[in-house]
Amino acid sequence: MELPGGAGRLIARVLETAGGLYRVHLGDGVLECSLRGRVKRAGEGPVVVGDRVRLEKLPDGSHCITEVLPRESLLARRSLARRSQQVIAANVDQVAAVASAAQPEPDLRMLDGLLAVAELNGLAAFVVLNKVDLVPEAEELPGMEAYRRAGYTILPTSASERTGLGALWGRLRSKVSVFSGPSGVGKSSLLNALMPGLRLRVGDVRERSGKGRHTTVGGLLIPLQGGGYLADTPGIQHFEPGAVDPRELSSAFREFGPHLTSCRFADCRHREEPGCEVRHAVDAGSIDARRFESYHEMLERAEDVARTDRGGA
Ligand code: GDP
Ligand code: ZN
Repeated sequence: MELPGGAGRLIARVLETAGGLYRVHLGDGVLECSLRGRVKRAGEGPVVVGDRVRLEKLPDGSHCITEVLPRESLLARRSLARRSQQVIAANVDQVAAVASAAQPEPDLRMLDGLLAVAELNGLAAFVVLNKVDLVPEAEELPGMEAYRRAGYTILPTSASERTGLGALWGRLRSKVSVFSGPSGVGKSSLLNALMPGLRLRVGDVRERSGKGRHTTVGGLLIPLQGGGYLADTPGIQHFEPGAVDPRELSSAFREFGPHLTSCRFADCRHREEPGCEVRHAVDAGSIDARRFESYHEMLERAEDVARTDRGGA
């Protein structure tokens, strides 16, 4: 079989990493390969899900990774303490933040956190509101309007009644998307509904590789028919806003953007500072008060972490 790229020039996408082995997507097949001792790489750190890699075919017919191609984007969890970042996935285009209309009720704090991660990593994001079959007029649920006003698209779906799947598919096609949200909102069900051949075990997104739990801690990339990938990364679900530079945090709230440069103090943290235009916008009703509260919660955690860092603890 002639593989794409020609001999010695095979470019593949990393789907999963486990204990020194890498499952990669090449053409329309999946290969398991190892990492060559000396790997050429533009970036730092280990090979992660989403990386584009160059393969070499070995005499015994197996493949190894010889080069990690430069990354276009990184989804990372930053640690101020170690002045480092833990890369969750590479070359991600967008984050699909999944919530459910009911069972469980939408977790707005979690949604704010997921969207904040996307903004801080410079990734596009949208909201998937699943299980709309359980609630009449689910899009009018309290809290949802704030996301629409902040500029996020909300896609209502029902995995069980197969509604909204066309629009979701349209957004996912040809892109690398992170599918993220608390457990129980229907992520596996949506993936199964989109890709019936996949047959994920509903209720347990994480054990489908059949190789045990430890194999998927770094997340998993699922190739989509017709191009694109869906990433299911545990990392982003446990986003700790604490590990964010407090000065950067206001940029995690998209709707603050137009007001930030108008605050009287350049280092305004939008609390009780005089001349805070973000607060004025909240008072005037153009920024959602609950999202503003969410910002303050994240800010406090971020400041705690920054203090701990300075103390060297
Ligand atoms: P995950 O943890 O996010 O992957 O969620 P699952 O896909 O495992 O779904 C959790 C539960 O919600 C399961 O019992 C599903 O059958 C149910 N569920 C998923 N999607 C829908 C939906 O659109 N409507 C309803 N009513 N139930 C759903
Ligand atoms: Zn301010």
